[in-house]
Amino acid sequence: MFLIHGKRNVIIKTYSNNLEYCKECRAFDLHIMIYQEYYHFFFIPFFPVGAKTAHILCNNCAARAGSSQMRMEYEKQTRSPIWMYTGAVLILGIPLFAIISNLIIG
Ligand SMILES: [Zn+2]
Repeated sequence: MFLIHGKRNVIIKTYSNNLEYCKECRAFDLHIMIYQEYYHFFFIPFFPVGAKTAHILCNNCAARAGSSQMRMEYEKQTRSPIWMYTGAVLILGIPLFAIISNLIIG
């Protein structure tokens, strides 16, 4: 049987930061993107895979910006989106729904 499954890397959240400056052009205009991989089965996301990674770019000169400390803080404060668990919720939800409706009707 042919199964479509694998991993995809997506941007789960973006931030802007006007408190820290770019070391190249000194502009207080940083753009932060948080990436995370998720496992999909027939394109339905099941669960997030691996660590989140932050990419910080300067909006003014497009240089890579931010310290590793700053990247770590953004990675820590960002939670994996709920839609990444869609498949897992469906798999668990269908039997649970059957049991509950059986208790109510039966
Ligand atoms: Zn810059």
